[in-house]
Amino acid sequence: CGIIGINGIHDATPRLVEGLRRLEYRGYDSAGVATLVGDGIERRRAEGKLLNLDARLRDAPLSGTVGIGHTRWATHGGPTETNAHPHATPRVAVVHNGIIENYRELKDELIGHGCVFESVTDSEVIPQLITHYMDKDGLSPVEASAKAFKRFTGAFSLVVIFAGEHELMIGARHGTPLAVGYGDGEMYLASDAFALAPLTNRICYLEDGDWVVVSRSEAVVHDASDAVVHRPVKTTAVSG
Ligand code: GLU
Repeated sequence: CGIIGINGIHDATPRLVEGLRRLEYRGYDSAGVATLVGDGIERRRAEGKLLNLDARLRDAPLSGTVGIGHTRWATHGGPTETNAHPHATPRVAVVHNGIIENYRELKDELIGHGCVFESVTDSEVIPQLITHYMDKDGLSPVEASAKAFKRFTGAFSLVVIFAGEHELMIGARHGTPLAVGYGDGEMYLASDAFALAPLTNRICYLEDGDWVVVSRSEAVVHDASDAVVHRPVKTTAVSG
């Protein structure tokens, strides 16, 4: 129900969790974070309140400067740890708000290709489909994401990170909000500016159908037809 992403130069996890705390007001039933560690992706997830995720992170700290976080309000699949976001394959991790309405048909297609699913959420088709396009079609992370985004129906926003790609984070907005934050040598994505207020007040709101490729220094926004477009960056009054 709330998402945040950091493509950064400083430790991401405490700042992801702080962002999730600022998204708590939306309500949620579980929470999780994932970061890039070495050439892989690591996750910590927990049912219930952020306190449970905090405890998990105390037992097993999560390093990394690139990461994503999620508070979930379950729509497909109960509020268990396995169904909690981020959802991931060895190459791709995703946080997702909203619903992928055609997930059943995509899931059947992917299972037909030999993909193995671990959750019963609609969301898990996102990392699975992007990974499939990278592995089977040899597409780059950006190409695979652009192709996958066109297959999803429903209202959603999402943030994607890729194993070994420490300069890359991709976001998409399709019916639910997503904001891009400009930091000092870092870039952020989140459901709203309030979540990013401790990090930056320079915010760009994506328009519906947009998807964005975010490095540590810039955001390249594409519209639904993949054309590069300019969206204004505003200084918000929201305080940290
Ligand atoms: N439909 C997704 C799920 O049930 C995302 C729900 C949300 O927006 O938190 O996992």
